[in-house]
Amino acid sequence: MEYKTIIEPFRIHTVEAIDLPDLKQREAALKRSGYNLFGLRADEVIIDLLTDSGTGAMSAEQWAGMMRGDETYAGSRSFFRFEETVTSITGFDHVIPTHQGRAAEKILFSVAVESGDVVPNNTHFDTTRANVEYQGAEARDMVIPGGTDPATILPFKGNMDVEKLRATIQEVGVDRVPLVMITVTNNSGGGQPVSMANIRDVRSVCDEYGIPLFLDACRFAENAWFIKTREDGYADTTPREIAREMFSLVDGTTMSAKKDGLSNIGGFLAMNNARWAQEARNLLILTEGFPTYGGLAGYDLEAIAIGLNEVLDENYLRYRIRSTEYLATTINAGGMPIMLPAGGHAVYLDAAALLPHIPSYEYPAQSLAIELYRAGGVRGVEIGTVMFGRVDPHGGPDDPATMELVRLAIPRRTYTQSHIDYVAEVVIDVATRSEDLRGYRIIEQASWLRHFTARLEPL
Ligand SMILES: *Cc1c(COP(=O)(O)O)cnc(C)c1O
Repeated sequence: MEYKTIIEPFRIHTVEAIDLPDLKQREAALKRSGYNLFGLRADEVIIDLLTDSGTGAMSAEQWAGMMRGDETYAGSRSFFRFEETVTSITGFDHVIPTHQGRAAEKILFSVAVESGDVVPNNTHFDTTRANVEYQGAEARDMVIPGGTDPATILPFKGNMDVEKLRATIQEVGVDRVPLVMITVTNNSGGGQPVSMANIRDVRSVCDEYGIPLFLDACRFAENAWFIKTREDGYADTTPREIAREMFSLVDGTTMSAKKDGLSNIGGFLAMNNARWAQEARNLLILTEGFPTYGGLAGYDLEAIAIGLNEVLDENYLRYRIRSTEYLATTINAGGMPIMLPAGGHAVYLDAAALLPHIPSYEYPAQSLAIELYRAGGVRGVEIGTVMFGRVDPHGGPDDPATMELVRLAIPRRTYTQSHIDYVAEVVIDVATRSEDLRGYRIIEQASWLRHFTARLEPL
């Protein structure tokens, strides 16, 4: 008999206590932090879904590997184990470790991108966009139509609009497009996957014009699982084979090991172009470190090498994607409007749909995020007008963001089914009394990236 319950494919080996602040303590913490969840301390949060970046649990094998970490400055054994793993998964000739994904981006764009260039991407992650713009270039998002509509259900909602890519290259001229990027899964677009067929189509447009194609591969294993379960012809292919095929269609990759590296820190840049790789290594030495450690300890390289293999385990991926989907379908059935279908690493609550009585300039997604914390100690993150709105120079209401979302990102291998059930109970409770929620106003803010430090008060 095949039982249908999908269990966590691990048991707990080391535990970390969760504090259980009561309602009064949570309300006091909100007041102190100016109703900004970035101002909370870890011990004031019961379930922390702020991000899936670097917040996962490492395995016993990873911890054991760290003991073997070789801290030799140049040519450490740990580097060669790391390099061998990355090469075996991606097939790239040049592997350059970095301390995070954004360091790989900074170095790649310093080498490849010039002022006045245009970089197409299905959707730039915010650090990717910032690093393109820092070079004086323009970052253009071109996800397929429907990719930004919370209600549209598509199997590969992260796909790039291939016609728009072609039109962009023709409009700006091939000389001004130094590279094209595809982000898997599409983090800023709801963690939605990209199909192999789409990567292949983008590849052929790039080939037509002789433009290199790079993958922002932070969640490559989750994307491989979606391809296996949703795309024709891949049901009997392993996630490792699918990942290898994804990487074989591109010229290089930037990676944050804090996501599908199952590690708490790290990243890499990998590619086939020897000239770019040499320039990248020279820049690496300037800001990150010697090319055999790139800003990481030898033990970090060991943890990443082991994590990159563990993340491709089918039992892990089945559980990972199912647990995110389980949270999404449970709260949706309980009355919380969400972005559909569920993404790989997070569930996005649609605050605009839940709270039509709160206008964008009174921050409905912030109001929802605050109430989830106040009611149940669950910390998500506002992705709405506090984060992306523009301040009106004449003192009027803020120019709104395109969507009002609260992201609940699920750390890897960290929370159990009962934690997720608890989150669902809190979310559904808040959804049933949504009319009681009120807007907020900002009383203090910085002139950029205000969402990290702004102070608010309830209206
Ligand atoms: C996290 C992330 C990055 C940046 O990686 P860091 O390790 O946080 O610097 C880049 N792209 C995507 C899609 C990401 O999710």
